[in-house]
Amino acid sequence: MLERPCPICRKPVPWETTPTRPFCSERCKTRDLGAWSSENYRVEVAPGSEEDEDTHDASPSSEAF
Ligand SMILES: [Zn+2]
Repeated sequence: MLERPCPICRKPVPWETTPTRPFCSERCKTRDLGAWSSENYRVEVAPGSEEDEDTHDASPSSEAF
């Protein structure tokens, strides 16, 4: 029987007999939807994180390769 890992909990999902595929269960399906919607509403900027950037010298380390 064909099995695929659940994207949420990595449990093998029997593909043909699972109505909630690709999720192993209704619970994982809901959890995935919840993660998506909560990420959409997350428009938050971490306060006080910009001070760090000016104090460091910009080194061209990203030029490697
Ligand atoms: Zn699962």
